[in-house]
Amino acid sequence: GVLGSGDFARSLAIRLVCSGFKVVVGSRNPKRKAGLFPSAAEVTFQAEAVKKTDIIFVAVFREHYSTLCDLADVLAGKILVDVSNNTEINHHKESNAEYLASLFPACTVVKGFNVISAWTLQSGARDGNKQVLICSNNQEAKRIVAEIAQVMGFTPVDMGCMSSACEIENIPLRLLPAWKIPIFLALGLFLCFFTYNLVRQVIHPYIREQKNKFYKIPIEVVNTTLPCVAYVMLSLVYLPGVLAASSQLYYGTKYRRFPDWLDQWLQHRKQIGLLSFFCAALHAVYSLCLPMRRSHRYLLIETAVKQ
Ligand code: NAP
Repeated sequence: GVLGSGDFARSLAIRLVCSGFKVVVGSRNPKRKAGLFPSAAEVTFQAEAVKKTDIIFVAVFREHYSTLCDLADVLAGKILVDVSNNTEINHHKESNAEYLASLFPACTVVKGFNVISAWTLQSGARDGNKQVLICSNNQEAKRIVAEIAQVMGFTPVDMGCMSSACEIENIPLRLLPAWKIPIFLALGLFLCFFTYNLVRQVIHPYIREQKNKFYKIPIEVVNTTLPCVAYVMLSLVYLPGVLAASSQLYYGTKYRRFPDWLDQWLQHRKQIGLLSFFCAALHAVYSLCLPMRRSHRYLLIETAVKQ
């Protein structure tokens, strides 16, 4: 069963029907919304839909949960899947799923599917995120929802009990998690090397010999800076591994926890490596630009000499 007839409810119903489930949609206005759903899905009033099914996806915003309270009697004993997201990290004191559970104490609430977008649901699990993070205080309900996710082509990930709901709800709001430190590191390194190369290649010749080499700033200075950043970042990918191995050899065990800073560093290696590759790729592009510029200048001079 699906409560709601918005974007998410529609995509969910389509995917469920495609995966071989019988779907009943509960809407406040079934007549108007029926045309938006596949013909195999039954679109009816909320109370009617709830009576016909034991597992109900609540595809309604948190703000409107209280309007479902009239259905409390028919919902009793059923599994409610909370798919909602917030607009801000830690927006409310309690997670949406815990709030739903407090409104319907006679139901079993499972948090899940919120990290999947309506678009991914419609296009199937081919594109985008395939993992569906699930949590609940009821093991059996969690198993049933995980099985549904699996049949739909997703990979269920057990996140434990309901106290994890807040963490799961925050996930879609995090932009590029684990990239912040590597990006700042790359920018910091770039700034340091750029300043050094600027002084060496442009400012120093200008002060010492009055040579104007400011034209070098956009391409040549940047191009000398990029490989420096790429090399240092690449070494920062391998260095924590060496430190971790040394620590294990020193303590004679691999079961001792690494210090927090080393642990964090080890976890960011992929991002640092990718940024290093990005700088190296940019260096390749810049290096191609240089001979193109020189060849253009050569052609110009040659034409002038011929004339
Ligand atoms: P939506 O298009 O605005 O649909 C919300 C639906 O809630 C409406 O179509 C309405 O259906 C129903 N509803 C029930 N009681 C209501 C009330 N009192 N006032 C207003 N509407 C009421 O939103 P959506 O994008 O489908 O999102 C639904 C839920 O899924 C949200 O909690 C959202 O965080 C979550 N979600 C969405 C996405 C996504 O990609 N869109 C992804 C992950 C999670 P009826 O008029 O038929 O009753």
